[in-house]
Amino acid sequence: MVKDHILVWNNCLNVIRKSIDSKLFKTWFEPITPVQLAKDALTIQVPNSFFYEMLEEHYVDILKKAIKSELGSNGSLEYQIKVENHKKITHNNTVSATKTSVQGDDIKMINPFVIPGIKKVKVDAQLNPSYTFNAFVNGECNRFPLSAGLAIAKKPGGTSFNPLMIYGDVGLGKTHLSQAIGNAVVSNDSKHQVLYLTTEKFTSQVIQAIKNNSIDDFMHFYQMIDVLIIDDIQFLSNRPKTQEIFFNIFNHLHQSGKQIILTSDRSPKDLTDVDERLISRFKWGLVADLKTPDFETRLRILDKKLEKEEMTLPTEIKEYICTHIRNNIREIEGVVISLVAQSTLNRTEIDMKLAKSIIKQFVSPVDKEVSVDNIKILVAKHFNIPVDELQSKTRLRDIVVARQLSMYLAKNYTNSSLKSIGASFGGRDHSTVLHSLKMVRDLMDTDQTFKDKVNYLVKKVQSTLVNG
Ligand code: ADP
Ligand code: MG
Repeated sequence: MVKDHILVWNNCLNVIRKSIDSKLFKTWFEPITPVQLAKDALTIQVPNSFFYEMLEEHYVDILKKAIKSELGSNGSLEYQIKVENHKKITHNNTVSATKTSVQGDDIKMINPFVIPGIKKVKVDAQLNPSYTFNAFVNGECNRFPLSAGLAIAKKPGGTSFNPLMIYGDVGLGKTHLSQAIGNAVVSNDSKHQVLYLTTEKFTSQVIQAIKNNSIDDFMHFYQMIDVLIIDDIQFLSNRPKTQEIFFNIFNHLHQSGKQIILTSDRSPKDLTDVDERLISRFKWGLVADLKTPDFETRLRILDKKLEKEEMTLPTEIKEYICTHIRNNIREIEGVVISLVAQSTLNRTEIDMKLAKSIIKQFVSPVDKEVSVDNIKILVAKHFNIPVDELQSKTRLRDIVVARQLSMYLAKNYTNSSLKSIGASFGGRDHSTVLHSLKMVRDLMDTDQTFKDKVNYLVKKVQSTLVNG
């Protein structure tokens, strides 16, 4: 029988499946597609270079084993990286079943600026030492940006996540995560010049430098940095001079293989009044978003914050807090601090009554709820289809996706049970709803456009929550 790439890859998957945890298998191997088999070389396509890095870093041995068992000792594996983020280059990387090394193609450009022998001074990184990876609770909501951050911390500038752009709503951990990378780099190797600053601070430095006629010194200073972290770059908006200077610094650092980490409250494509050249560079590396944490993760975050305050709370109160504070981790922290303050001030035990009165200050007085019908209307409008179609038996791809997405939003943003959600989508059962949730999560993991769409709709649903 002639072996084809699909068969070979499926057999490899069987080998791999046996060696790793099913969740990891799902994350790192299911999104791969076999492309071709030429002689003994199997080519597989991975969604982006992040995948390639992760495979190279953690799964190269399993891959080798699988390829060897399928194609013999001459077998080799080639990666094809899907064109990502509008970058018009595809690169091929080869991992051979007989060799251990993976050949990359990152030809470093010669650095045109650095003057040999220039004396280095130690830059104060301006990091908050409490923003560490240890203090950062992991969850589904931050899996992608967190694993990229951990990889960067090990090899700043040496991964393809350069720049790393972390985006997400306020209070979801952008500042914490970006600084955690910086803190980890410093503690791994104190020789690295790490610098954290907000876009506001950067902007005022630019203005000062222009005023003092010291732009050259300013540029030289930045060219010394190994890991540059700039927070809240949405504030570059409408500041052409700052953008121009940042553009030059960015190019210089990137070309010299230095790490750039950026955060923003929105995705690059939603940045307004920022030069296209900059926006396109922001998309060069990895763009990863922080999502709102689910209930379990919120509980673990609350526990972490309580631990820090050396405080304990009854489960009932913890669950009450996490049920009511959903969208902002900073608010969870705020509740903890208020609870501590109130109970010490009034010398009282923290009870449900106190917890409720404090939470009231954080959430709107009437805890409004969006209905499943609201969600259907919103999604149908967005997909430009009649609402009825969401209940129908149609299996047209677009409608199926819209239906699954509506169920996903209904589960996450209403208190409806799986059963009642199923019922309101044309009498489907709870396992169909579960399946839909999974499909949406999987698609979000692999399809950025879809993910943006979901995030957009989530924002819409949330604004309905606030505005009634
Ligand atoms: P952002 O910059 O996105 O507005 P921050 O990084 O300032 O958010 O986070 C707000 C607060 O929430 C910080 O005190 C941070 O420590 C905390 N926080 C955010 N995400 C996590 C997490 N995953 N685990 C623990 N604490 C977190
Ligand atoms: Mg921040």
